[in-house]
Amino acid sequence: MSKILIIGAGGVGRVVVYKCAQHPEVFSEILLASRTKSKCDIIAAGAIKATGHKSITTAAIDAEDVPALSALIRSFQPEMVLNVALPYQDLTIMDACLETGVHYLDTANYEPKDEAKFEYSWQWAYHDRFKKAGLLAVLGCGFDPGVTSIFTARAAKHHFDEIHYLDIVDANAGSHGKAFATNFNPEINIREITQKGKYYENGRWVETEPHEIWKDLTYPNIGPRRSYLLYHEELESLVKHYPTLKRARFWMTFGEEYLTHLRVIQNIGMAGIEPVKFKGMDIVPLEFLKAVLPDPGGLGENYTGQTSIGCRIRGIKDGKERSYYIWNNCHHAAAYKETGAQGVSYTTGVPAMLGAMMMLTGKWPGKGVFNVEEFNPDPFLEKLGECGLPWEEEFGGDLEM
Ligand code: NDP
Repeated sequence: MSKILIIGAGGVGRVVVYKCAQHPEVFSEILLASRTKSKCDIIAAGAIKATGHKSITTAAIDAEDVPALSALIRSFQPEMVLNVALPYQDLTIMDACLETGVHYLDTANYEPKDEAKFEYSWQWAYHDRFKKAGLLAVLGCGFDPGVTSIFTARAAKHHFDEIHYLDIVDANAGSHGKAFATNFNPEINIREITQKGKYYENGRWVETEPHEIWKDLTYPNIGPRRSYLLYHEELESLVKHYPTLKRARFWMTFGEEYLTHLRVIQNIGMAGIEPVKFKGMDIVPLEFLKAVLPDPGGLGENYTGQTSIGCRIRGIKDGKERSYYIWNNCHHAAAYKETGAQGVSYTTGVPAMLGAMMMLTGKWPGKGVFNVEEFNPDPFLEKLGECGLPWEEEFGGDLEM
């Protein structure tokens, strides 16, 4: 029986609240706090109606204001904070956790607002402070990063003596009926996919132009989809924690229509993160674009099709080469029916709830700052299916890599 403070009332926050509310035996009291309290109230009312949870309350908070956040934590006294606001707030939320003595979990690594760059160094630098305080911080517990890293940990623990080649493959074969929309926060999403590609090979990082490298990959129950090589944050921690890796890459599907819109957005300067003067005010083009694009949290209603995300791995077991594929498929419509959110929010929110459950039930013990692949994957994967994301695995198939 624990109290949890959830920060961020977007699409992912909605799923986290609904899923925590389904487990009152672990999450006995839930406080949802975000910049806009009215969004928290709508989510809380929906979750109470859907689950009958007895204690979900809400609050307004600016998570970049450490004294205000520390005061909120002190008054509610949670065991942990689950951060599903934006990556910009990771460090201030970690600061408030240290100040008040509570554990921390997030789904995306820190990113400074004024530079489209993400890496773990900023958050790994908190390790000694969390350790000294006897606190646990778990980084990147969504689907990717998150489940993909836990899938890799399962492969390394149970199926390989050494993993050599890792390809994380992420397909969204859903259709939301809009000409252009992003599946999670547009600002963060567009920053991520317009940057240069990068992968790891033979001890060094290789940089590519955006979307320069692609392959047609076949996804279970979906079929072939054009998949583009991107840099994604879990590659950094996986390469560090699995030094036998000779190559690690990340692939994501995009449709032609989506890429055409993206090219136009970039070409006309709307993906810019430098402020420009408009009618005497400073505005950031990408922030303005976010305000006019569809809200990812509202895409669910007519979303059809499914996502498929997994890891394709080659390596050595008992002296022999082996190939292995582990994946989850998630239907947008089923996610919406259960939580009112589409599949991308769902596949992020379920692992975040489950990671929090692992922490609060002592299955993932630790003091310091850790990535999810550093914990035992077994108790997490035992529960992932029953929590809504069943997974499958296949040995010896053609990985197409
Ligand atoms: P949304 O933009 O829908 O939601 C973000 C929420 O955070 C909004 O409610 C917003 O408030 C709130 N927020 C923003 N700034 C602050 C602040 N300063 N203080 C308090 N609250 C704030 O995003 P998503 O729900 O789509 O994504 C949430 C997180 O999940 C992101 O960090 C994203 O990168 C991550 N993610 C991770 C994935 C994974 O697999 N690991 C996949 C998808 C997303 P307001 O409503 O007022 O704007």
